[in-house]
Amino acid sequence: MKLILGSTFADKIVESLKERVTSYHQQGLTTPHLAAVRVGQNPSSEIYVRRKARACKYVGIATSIHHLPEGAGATDVRMLLEELSADTSVHGILLQLPLPKPLKSTELLEALSPSKDVDGLTALNQGNLALELAGLFPCTPLGCMHLAAHYFPSFAGIRTTVIGNSALVGAPLSRMLLAAGASVTTLHSQSKDLESFTRTSELVVVAAGHPHLVGRNWIKEGAVVIDVGISRVNGKILGDVDLASLEGIPRAITPVPGGVGPMTIAMLLSNCLAAYQHLELGEPLSPPSKSYLSCH
Ligand code: NAD
Repeated sequence: MKLILGSTFADKIVESLKERVTSYHQQGLTTPHLAAVRVGQNPSSEIYVRRKARACKYVGIATSIHHLPEGAGATDVRMLLEELSADTSVHGILLQLPLPKPLKSTELLEALSPSKDVDGLTALNQGNLALELAGLFPCTPLGCMHLAAHYFPSFAGIRTTVIGNSALVGAPLSRMLLAAGASVTTLHSQSKDLESFTRTSELVVVAAGHPHLVGRNWIKEGAVVIDVGISRVNGKILGDVDLASLEGIPRAITPVPGGVGPMTIAMLLSNCLAAYQHLELGEPLSPPSKSYLSCH
């Protein structure tokens, strides 16, 4: 059973993006710039934003972090997103989620220019994904596609189960897989008899946030399993798959941590450069069937 170590794939992507940014600098082009917006005091959000800024710095993308205090209103967030959207020196914008209550991310994301939406969460980019048009698409599903593509040179007709249907992971991933030609079943919290779907699938992606949901009798021999889930239980990080119980069954599986996680940041950097190339160099964005490959 091969472990799919996301960092091996992510490191390669990051190095190639770094080379690309270096060549922009050598040509005297503007420096790509990501603006990160954080609202309130969520400690995990602070860590995530810092980690993303560190990764940007490594490849040569400039970052600015905009922190609004706990209690900031929807108008404050909207104004900041509109200001950054209009600023021509900014190429990518991310709004770190979750937002403190009562702020509603779906409404506020619409203040963001879709061509700078590096998390691919605006209605326009979600629509582009659904219609298989060019756009910017969510980073974690792009990372899953990139890893899965290593094991499936073609997704045409591949029987696939995705557990989870969130706007951030499960739903966009199912759409990307469909766009690539896979036969996809999407399961969610109201689905029944999940094992009957996973047991006949060649590719299983689990993004439920339910620790060790998937165990031994769920996976077909030789399948590829991608575990997106991250839960902290008694100080330990657990995935949605009980990896130890699957010994010898799948042909490849992502561990947690160390599987999908590093790919999410690599894809964010890739999206930042795609936005930069589109805005500064007039290059077209990619459709979903190609966007997870454009960072090769
Ligand atoms: P979410 O809570 O928004 O969505 C979870 C989805 O799973 C929903 O569609 C829900 O219906 C479904 N679900 C929940 N329990 C289920 C069950 N028992 N059976 C079947 N379906 C079930 O979560 P999300 O934002 O999509 O994230 C999912 C998991 O992935 C979380 O653990 C999250 O921490 C992790 N995550 C990891 C990364 C990464 O970079 N590795 C990025 C994003 C999310």
